[in-house]
Amino acid sequence: MMNKSNLGIYIHIPFCRSKCPYCDFYSFVGADEEKAEYLAALKSSISYWGKALLGRKADTLYIGGGTPSSLSGEELAEVIHAAKRAFSFTEGEITVECNPRDCSEELFGALSTSGVNRISLGMQSANDIERRALGRTADSEKVISCVKLAKNAGIDNISVDIMLGVPKQTLSTLENTVKFCADMGVSHVSAYMLKLEPGTYYYKNAERLSLPDDDSVAQMYLRCVELLSQYGYKQYEISNFAKPGFESKHNLKYWKLEDYLGIGPSAHSFIDGKRFYYPRDIKSFESALEPVFDCEGGEWQERVMLALRLSEGLDLSEFDKSRSDELLRKIKVYTDNSFAERTAKGFRLTPKGFLVSNTIIGDLVDSQ
Ligand code: SF4
Repeated sequence: MMNKSNLGIYIHIPFCRSKCPYCDFYSFVGADEEKAEYLAALKSSISYWGKALLGRKADTLYIGGGTPSSLSGEELAEVIHAAKRAFSFTEGEITVECNPRDCSEELFGALSTSGVNRISLGMQSANDIERRALGRTADSEKVISCVKLAKNAGIDNISVDIMLGVPKQTLSTLENTVKFCADMGVSHVSAYMLKLEPGTYYYKNAERLSLPDDDSVAQMYLRCVELLSQYGYKQYEISNFAKPGFESKHNLKYWKLEDYLGIGPSAHSFIDGKRFYYPRDIKSFESALEPVFDCEGGEWQERVMLALRLSEGLDLSEFDKSRSDELLRKIKVYTDNSFAERTAKGFRLTPKGFLVSNTIIGDLVDSQ
């Protein structure tokens, strides 16, 4: 089915100041010449896609990484202007991910002037010991000053990333981190559980890291949901919480199966029912190689999986009667045990259900 809704554009900046020990994203410390070459390739790819998708407008732009703020404000502004031109972007959400150590009046001034209206700050924890264990160098005072600088530049919509299950974390340090976010008055919090990804330093040294056990992490997640709700951040997705009206419009496109285009190595796209991606290789991207076709997207299993990430849950009217009856039959054991609950349109997972969402979704989409 052809979907001609406005596009979301994701642009990947693969450079970081240093490599964090838990990180599996496609990112590395780039030299100045590498950055210049990449920016030139990025701009020409943006212009290529603008022509290839002629007539498609965009209303969200998300610059992520890596660490976009490892580039200068002027460099980022050039990328943003290129994307706005290519996709007739006049109004919408423009987000840039920033590392607190890079924040400055100049950076936010340049971003604000180029139309950026949302900043995503990689804080991870308000506890400086935890932050250092994660490879982060800026202290929590620096995070507070970043939020002030962004607001002074006119960027009020600020999201903060925090992590659950990090070395030495306790329920009490997590509570302090959540309170710290609320006290800064940010509009959005993303709370991700640490995953040990193969190949990372953390994966190889897990035994030595003093990681909280699974039960403690589960307890932290439930407490995080509860506390954020008390501070006025409504959960709208497994890991995302927002003040009313501040949900990430760009990320919602992923979960609602709307079209998005990802530009840059490792970036994924979903357009007109097809999924494709650029390999994790900057050189192949710079050689203007075509992205790789992945698969047809939007099958019923994928719609179940994505909808159940969201707090609004699954709308059964999107499925035919036999599928809908089957899903209702299978979810019953979970609604009976408070892992899921019925809604006016279908059902959704509860926070307790989000903790085991892979198992529940696997069960729902299993055709045996
Ligand atoms: S700053 Fe972000 S993308 Fe870069 S290494 Fe650290 S976690 Fe990975």
